[in-house]
Formats: sequence, C-alpha cells, structure tokens
Amino acid sequence: MSGGDKLDFEIRPNPQPVPAADRAALLANPGFGRVFTDHMVTIRYAEGKGWYDARVEARAPIPMDPASAVLHYAQEIFEGLKAYHATDGAVTMFRPDANAARFAESARRMAMPALPEQAFLDSLRHLIEIDRAWLPTTAEGSLYLRPFMYASEVFLGVRPANEYLYLVIASPVESYFSGGVQPVNVWVSPTYTRAAPGGTGAAKCGGNYAASLAAQAEAIEHGCDQVVFLDAVQRRYVDELGGMNIFYVYDDGSLVTPPLGGTILPGITRESVMTLARQAGRTVLERPVSFDEWRTDAASGRLREVFACGTAAVITPIGQVRSPDGEFTIADGAPGEVTMGLRQNLVDIQRGRVADAHGWIHRIG
Ligand SMILES: *Cc1c(COP(=O)(O)O)cnc(C)c1O
Repeated sequence: MSGGDKLDFEIRPNPQPVPAADRAALLANPGFGRVFTDHMVTIRYAEGKGWYDARVEARAPIPMDPASAVLHYAQEIFEGLKAYHATDGAVTMFRPDANAARFAESARRMAMPALPEQAFLDSLRHLIEIDRAWLPTTAEGSLYLRPFMYASEVFLGVRPANEYLYLVIASPVESYFSGGVQPVNVWVSPTYTRAAPGGTGAAKCGGNYAASLAAQAEAIEHGCDQVVFLDAVQRRYVDELGGMNIFYVYDDGSLVTPPLGGTILPGITRESVMTLARQAGRTVLERPVSFDEWRTDAASGRLREVFACGTAAVITPIGQVRSPDGEFTIADGAPGEVTMGLRQNLVDIQRGRVADAHGWIHRIG
C-alpha cells in the first residue's frame, strides 16, 4: 500500500470448507477457542514497502522460519472482540473502532508499525462476511475475533523487526458460563506482579500473558479460579486480574476501579461499564484500592460487590478472595444486584435488544 489508509483485500475462498453437517456438529458445543472458521485474514508489512498482500484465504498453518524474530524476542500483539447476531438478523460488532485504536497503541509500545485503523476494521468485516455461517445463532453465542500481529523477519539481532505478519482468525463461542453466571474465587498473589511502571502492562501483548501463567498456576494450586495482581512497586494496590479489569461496588451505590496509568490494560468493557454506570446515575471513581482497604471494607460490609470484566466473559462476579493471610467473602458470596444489572445492560446493548445510545454497535449488514 502506498499512501491512504485503505487496503484492497484479495478474497480467495477456501476450496474445501468444513461440510455444513460437520459445522453444525461443531457449533453445537464449541467451548471457548477450540473451534475455528474456514478462513483467515493475512496482511504483510515490510519496512520501506508498507502494508501489502491483504488477503482473505483458507485458514491454514503459517510456514515459519525457526529464526523468525517473534520466536526469540516475542514482538507480538493481539486483540479480542466479538461479532453477534442481532435480534433483527443483522451481524454486528461491539466497539471495533476501540479495538483498532488499542491495537495501534499496543503496536507503538512494542516498536511495531501501526496497522491503519480502517484496514483493521475492513479485515474484520471481510472475515465475518465470508465465515458468516459460523456465527452462532443461539442467544448466548458469538463469533470471537482474534486479530494479531508478529515480527516475521528472519533475524536474530535485537532490534525492532523489519517485517511483520498481521492475521485475523475467528472462533465461534458459547457463553463462558454454561448454566448461569457463577462467581469466581480469586487469589491475590504474594509472589508475582504483572506490570511495572514503564513496562508493557497497557499493551495487549502475548508476553504479558506468558508472564502471568505461573501466577495463574499459583492461584489454581490455592483452589482459586483467577489471580489478582497487586502493583509492582508497593505491592499494596490492586491492578487487575490476568486478563480482566476489576470493579468495586459500595453500599452508597458508587463504583470504583483502579486508574489506568501504564500498568493496567485499558479494557473496552471497563470503559463501557463506567459509561453505563454513570448513565444510570451512579458515581464512578477511578482511584487506587489497596488490598488492606478491600479486606477491611468487605469485613465492615461497606463493600457490597466486586466484579471482573473483559470481552470473553463480559462481567464476572467475584465471590471469595484468598491470600497467604487468609480468605474473606464479598457479602454473601453470591452475584450482586449491581453487577448483574450492569451485565444485563451491556449484553442487551451488544445483542441489539435495547437502544445503543453511544454508537457502540457496528453493523456489518
Ligand atoms: C484484554 C484484556 C482486558 C479486557 O479488555 P476488554 O477490552 O474489555 O476485552 C483486561 N486485562 C487484560 C490484561 C487484557 O489483556
């Protein structure tokens, strides 16, 4: 591509798509991230040439040289968002422009070229159009879209690569919670932190997840579903979970979430929840919450609900909190009213069941 933000995509339909009967069987029980559609998007980048060879083609393994830079130095970023069947039959995406902007921000932090936001949006639209038959039509189902980009240059020197590959794959998913929303137990890790000031905490990069896995394993060893990370400097303030932001709901109806500032991933669900809660007349503060304060306010009853949020599970109530100092429960441990109300409000907007007052819904047609 030279100039402009618009890339022309070459569409090469898969000559051997999954037969309809097999697809139906896969869609009956897709789980999360195990079933994939027939196609993928690829766009290449080379220094001096820019973005080129934008394609929609059969999903297939990527030939990769063992010296590809990403395999050694992890220059990689990704996004995650969902496409839905709206109640009127249209296919929609939720705030894909926010994902496009965040992808460009992540690229900047990882010294990668920024894909033009229009090309990002077009890549999603093309993939959804060609793989539309894979979009679950169930009330809770959706098509999870995974755009990502990595350093494909064959080179072992340590510097930003000169060549990159951008891809999008898609995976039909059902609700994270088959059988109703269940509260999760969280482990506050005394051992590991996720992100330090000046680090990559605000970038959606694979490396952050690689570094979180030992902490997540520690959480599971202690009988918890998810890990909560404290700040890396004082080990006092709550940052977020491994892949979800966190909210506190107090007895005066107000909400609090830790402020962004480089160590927290700026979640699109987080931002949407703040907007919806304010619209419902609630006070929403972005301020630090210490672990001590969390425990004290849970004990006094001032803290009524805690939830985590992100695209995959939308809003997840937090029931119990464990740390080496012991454990405590938020209220009676059951999903709270405010949490479930915000969840319903957000899901209804995403599904087109209520009006979209914020221009969040992007229609594919
Ligand atoms: C993706 C992600 C989130 C949630 O972001 P959404 O845009 O709401 O999906 C939160 N924390 C981390 C670390 C993430 O990678």
